[in-house]
Amino acid sequence: MNDSTETGHVGGAGLEPGDLTMMLDALNEFVGHALTPQRQLELDHEDVCPEDTVRAMSDPEQLGVQLIFVPAAYGGMDGGAFDSYRVCEVMGRHDIGLATAVFATFLGSDPILVGATEEQKSRWLGAISEKGVVFAYGATEPDAGSDLGALKTTAERIEKDGVVVGFRINGRKQWISNGSIADFTTILARTPEGPSWFVVPKGTPGFTSGKPEDKHGLRLSNTAALFLDNVEVPAENLIGGVEGKGLVQAQQVFGYTRVMVAAFGLGGGWEALDRAIAYSQERQQGGGPLSGKQGYTHKLIVPHAVRLEAARSYIEHTADQIDRGLGANGAMNTEGAIAKLMATEAGNAAADAAIQAHGGYGYTREYVVEKVKRDVRITTIYEGTSEIMEMTIARDRWQQHLKSAGGYYRDRAARLATLHRTHPTVGAGNAALAMQALAAVLEACRVARLTRHQHVLFRLGELICHAECAEAFAQRGSAALDGRRHPKSPDRFGGEALATMSRVFAREAAQKIGQEGVRWVAGAIDAGSVDVAPLLAGVPHDAIRAAQAGLLADMDRVADVLYGRAH
Ligand SMILES: Cc1cc2nc3c(=O)[nH]c(=O)nc-3n(C[C@H](O)[C@H](O)[C@H](O)COP(=O)(O)OP(=O)(O)OC[C@H]3O[C@@H](n4cnc5c(N)ncnc54)[C@H](O)[C@@H]3O)c2cc1C
Repeated sequence: MNDSTETGHVGGAGLEPGDLTMMLDALNEFVGHALTPQRQLELDHEDVCPEDTVRAMSDPEQLGVQLIFVPAAYGGMDGGAFDSYRVCEVMGRHDIGLATAVFATFLGSDPILVGATEEQKSRWLGAISEKGVVFAYGATEPDAGSDLGALKTTAERIEKDGVVVGFRINGRKQWISNGSIADFTTILARTPEGPSWFVVPKGTPGFTSGKPEDKHGLRLSNTAALFLDNVEVPAENLIGGVEGKGLVQAQQVFGYTRVMVAAFGLGGGWEALDRAIAYSQERQQGGGPLSGKQGYTHKLIVPHAVRLEAARSYIEHTADQIDRGLGANGAMNTEGAIAKLMATEAGNAAADAAIQAHGGYGYTREYVVEKVKRDVRITTIYEGTSEIMEMTIARDRWQQHLKSAGGYYRDRAARLATLHRTHPTVGAGNAALAMQALAAVLEACRVARLTRHQHVLFRLGELICHAECAEAFAQRGSAALDGRRHPKSPDRFGGEALATMSRVFAREAAQKIGQEGVRWVAGAIDAGSVDVAPLLAGVPHDAIRAAQAGLLADMDRVADVLYGRAH
């Protein structure tokens, strides 16, 4: 017995910035060498997981990238959430399939990290850091995906002389990354006391995997169903030694793991967009390069760069909070959900736009963006779908709105207005309008009891995500202008550039919340039953409209920054 389920959390003290840079350089060099563009396209085409590369990346004698996730006490590098985000973004830029294979070891060892006894941690985390063993994470089942509570896999006690000596597991797992290659799999199964995690080694009698799934994308990642047919494991393979803690242990790490998937979305989105940026400087149409055409850049490039950087702002905000110790016991789950929703939707949209930006060439394999698009698509599905993210976000913030008698976002709007006074160029004023509009929409929903409509609740989740990302972007812009940038944040964009992007995003957020908030509030009310106008009187429509002034000039500036043009 141990109490680590109450106290355990992921995210170590963090690397020194110099060490992180060294790790990222080594990662780029290693993957660049192991996965040449030609090999990558072939593996994708042939639908093959490069197990040798996955194992070499995990081998501490070679790259040992997973050491970043393992605490120093168990032979790892004690990386924090910020380090993990940077590593995941870089891996995601190379190949989200390969990144998923590495991530699966982290995910598979998560229940151990947060819930295992010291002895179990030494044994399995030690094996990851010393031997580079590969893990898989077996939670999802054919009939239990978003709703894990519906899982059917059972673990029945094996008793000898009244003592539990082991468990017999029966059931099936679905869509398991590394499913057919992992050395160990953590399996969620229902014990008499409730869902619990078990470590099941490869080769255990009765434990088999299906053939790799034929997927839309992510084809360098092995995904397979797992079958457990009277699989017996000793009692010491029950993580934490106590039954019934499985769902809590799974939820404890969502803040952290969702930041990592958010970083895949960010990496995939930027990879595709950078390819489109390079292509549009070469491609001549209509008498000049596409990069000089506003109708092209302001639709296909600029808004996507802005949204990706908004997402990065929120990822960094969340990772930083986790590293400051606020991520324990699921405390950052809502923030992880916001980061994931924004980054993965932005990454997916950016990759789609990148195909369009390449015209017919984008539709062929050779130009790679269509592969990135297929790969990044998974990020809005696994580790919690976008809809589940919307629900998670809306439920939590709705409670905050109620508890604070409507003050939650009004107060945040006031703080942004203060930031606007000291930093008038970072979009904080427009972000304040977004928050103000959000507070008004939430209040209208309360008065008219509209969150009983699931669609309204989920749409609120999306609007909340935009408002909070606008806030994080304005704060990141102001920090960059003041020379207070996070020491591990990439420096591709200077303070002025970030401020400009933040202004564009905050305008979009305010406009979206004003328009769509009104749409769903009015749309949820039966025609003629209530007067909608007074309900929505608090939405600052005129100010939001006025705030759009200067939008095109700012987009021109963002395009100049992206294309390295002086302005
Ligand atoms: C390539 C790949 C790799 C994966 N790797 C792993 C892994 O390593 N380990 C693992 O355990 N799992 C893994 N998964 C599973 C993944 O996490 C699930 O697919 C995901 O959580 C969604 O579950 P589902 O597929 O059952 O969809 P469902 O839960 O059936 O959802 C279907 C749709 O309904 C929506 N929906 C669901 N519930 C609600 C609701 N209450 N209200 C409104 N809408 C709802 C969803 O948003 C979605 O759009 C992987 C999946 C894939 C495709």
